[in-house]
Amino acid sequence: MKLLYNAYIHTQDPSNPTGSALAIDRDRIVAVGEVNDLLAQYPDAEKQNMGGGMILPGLTDAHLHLKTYALSLQKVDCETETKEKCLRRVEERAQRARPGEWILGHGWNQNTWGAWPAASELDAIAPNNPVYLTAKSLHASWANTAALKLANVTSQTPHPQNGQIQRDGKGNATGILLETAMELVGGLIPEPTIAEIADAMEKAQAILWRMGLTGVHDFDRRDSFMALQQLHARGRLKLRVLKNIPVELLDQAYELGLGAGFGDDWLRIGSVKVFMDGALGPHTAAMFQPYIGEDDNRGILNMDGEELFEYGRKAAQVGLALTVHAIGDRANHEVLDAYEQLRNYERENHLPALRHRIEHVQVIHPDDAARLGKMNVIASMQPIHATSDMLMADAFWGERSRLAYALKTQLNYGAPLALGSDAPVESPNPFLGLHAAVTRRRANGTPSAEGWYPEQKLTMAEAWEGFTLGPAYAAYMENRLGRLAPNYLADLLVLEKDPFTCAPEDLLTMGSSATMVGGEWVYTSSMVPAV
Ligand SMILES: [Zn+2]
Repeated sequence: MKLLYNAYIHTQDPSNPTGSALAIDRDRIVAVGEVNDLLAQYPDAEKQNMGGGMILPGLTDAHLHLKTYALSLQKVDCETETKEKCLRRVEERAQRARPGEWILGHGWNQNTWGAWPAASELDAIAPNNPVYLTAKSLHASWANTAALKLANVTSQTPHPQNGQIQRDGKGNATGILLETAMELVGGLIPEPTIAEIADAMEKAQAILWRMGLTGVHDFDRRDSFMALQQLHARGRLKLRVLKNIPVELLDQAYELGLGAGFGDDWLRIGSVKVFMDGALGPHTAAMFQPYIGEDDNRGILNMDGEELFEYGRKAAQVGLALTVHAIGDRANHEVLDAYEQLRNYERENHLPALRHRIEHVQVIHPDDAARLGKMNVIASMQPIHATSDMLMADAFWGERSRLAYALKTQLNYGAPLALGSDAPVESPNPFLGLHAAVTRRRANGTPSAEGWYPEQKLTMAEAWEGFTLGPAYAAYMENRLGRLAPNYLADLLVLEKDPFTCAPEDLLTMGSSATMVGGEWVYTSSMVPAV
């Protein structure tokens, strides 16, 4: 038994919203109240003074790519102000690398640097290692000569379909590969083994704890699932992970009879992931009306609502909900049509109403805005996308952006909100997401003091629930996750400052002082004394 005391506890339990002490038996909370009452009840408990810190339910990222994020941490961080800084980092890595070992990096942007970089610059600092650095956009990469040689890219190599090998005035490859040409080199990089992925995940997990995360909903695939199982078998998985199944494997899941919730409280099956459309950046999100400045581009719709319904019907028979990526208003409309049919199907066949989700709900038509709430469909949204994408949304969706990243609208219409980051697209730091949700401003204060479409701001209480109760509900775990109450799992974090009363800017530098998962302190800083 543990007894945490001298704390300000925010429970998210409406019947008992606050307390100053918390009793924990193994992995579960047994009581929340005042220290003397709890001491009388549990005299043998091990006491831990929390130094007046704030204790809150641990945060869950409802949309994250765990394998990709974990592996990205091993890459050279090329998101630098200047090219020189990036080159210095690559040079440091090259000095430690074995000859022939691949050096991978990510995050550069030629617009920030003022010009395209070149292979020769990498050759000068890393002549003995193939180097492959992807751009922040993931639509371009920068390779050195050693990498180009391995890929047999010469002045004679033809451009692949939908791709381009950038060439200089003499026709020689510059090292920049665009779109499908990236694969010429990218396709040669050896895949990490499952054990390597598991190791990378274990390191990533420790970073996530420091950020206050105690759970994630993972959208990566087979390798990620296998690595998670390996970590779990070693007893090292200390995050609550919900694992989704790609729709390409629906038949196999159906044949197996694999339903939602299979697994345990650490690693369990979620729902079936389907892609309805593309994204805003490359203008492939499916829209009712054209993109501004591109009169004949309405994006790409991968399938219509009818086809999606057929997947949903099959999934429902084994108890799997759908979780559908939908960015454009047309894509969201088609998903909602399918969900309407699915709800009827569930009713007619006496099946439970499954916890269907839409991932992103990035822009929605006014006529569709209320439909998620009406059908109890989970809006799985990423508040940080609103502030990252706002300029693009204004430029290409214009007026339609009034209902873009419309968190508050969804909440007002009664849709359960599950918030996340889509890491590694964005940082998984939930405090950056909380900041974006309550301010609709970037870290640098833009676009204005009021924020972008300020009517879409959430309160901190709503945002915190979106990172806790919402994901717990989506995982069918709301009876044991997301609150600090008796019989709930002891997943929590300790903060020095109160996020409900601090200046919103303080959120940008906030992190957990101590994080507990399943009754075990998985991270502690010197801020928390007696832990
Ligand atoms: Zn994603």
